[in-house]
Amino acid sequence: MAMTPLPWQHDRWRKLIELQDSGRLPHALLLSGPRGIGKQPLVEALIARTLCRAPGDVACGECHGCRMLGAGYHPDLLSVGLVEKSRQIRVDAIRKVNGFVAQTAQQGGYRVIRIEPAEAMNVAASNALLKSLEEPGERTLFILVSDTPSRLLPTIRSRCQHWNLVAPRPEEAEPWLRDRLGDGGEARFWLRVAGGLPLLAEELAGADARQLRQDMRELFDALVRGGEPVGEAARLDAQSLDRILWYGIGWLEDLIRLGLSGDPQQVRNSDLLPLYRQAAKNARVRDWFRLLDYAREQRRLVAAGGNPNPQLVLEAWLVRWSALLRS
Ligand SMILES: [Zn+2]
Repeated sequence: MAMTPLPWQHDRWRKLIELQDSGRLPHALLLSGPRGIGKQPLVEALIARTLCRAPGDVACGECHGCRMLGAGYHPDLLSVGLVEKSRQIRVDAIRKVNGFVAQTAQQGGYRVIRIEPAEAMNVAASNALLKSLEEPGERTLFILVSDTPSRLLPTIRSRCQHWNLVAPRPEEAEPWLRDRLGDGGEARFWLRVAGGLPLLAEELAGADARQLRQDMRELFDALVRGGEPVGEAARLDAQSLDRILWYGIGWLEDLIRLGLSGDPQQVRNSDLLPLYRQAAKNARVRDWFRLLDYAREQRRLVAAGGNPNPQLVLEAWLVRWSALLRS
């Protein structure tokens, strides 16, 4: 569990601890931002500091509270998340929250409830949480964490103080990523591919994710050369459909940026420029927009659990790509 926030979160962190130390931290925070921006280290550092008995700027790491947390169990922390393959946080999990809030803290300090991903609470769960959010009792801190806060019920959002994290400037994130990847050029490249999201960039630069991107690149190349889409789909593992669509969306956005501006500096995946130029010979920007809408909708359906067969989604998606590339 992270004890310190990430380097570019320093200003946010200062504000949080000022509020905490002056007793003005609200009892419910909604912390949001896209996946890969670094919500977890900030949340974990805040939980640790809240449960620490002798906090400085960050949790001390030494006290009984810190040691319990470090060992993976603190009686005054309740974490609610997705269980196994479920895509929803259900009302029984929130009833446990309500029971937990009704007790006094065992260690005499704060009780902390972390709910993540908060947007996974179904309507019954959300409604059950409202009562605790309205009457939380003394020294209780709710931390709701969400990639897409717009999917929370407005009644939940309005009872939380909302902290939305934005992507750091490249000069803030690059040194951190360079330390992790061991190379400045790699750090710049992957940060750009990840749209400026540092933790996502680190993930994409990992071996498995790199291989998937390479496979997709070869597939894209094959389609540009007139390859047969359903046959080519076999190169990819349909279980990675969400990531495949994510890349496809990013590449289409690049094609649109390039088509509208003519400026190769605008693209995020600079290594794909030769393929983009090839692809742009046959299709127009408005075709890319249409395909982009389709890809976004498919990705949304996949995330909502609405489409049971990833292989079919993948094939349908590649058939559309290839139709544009060949026209
Ligand atoms: Zn401590």
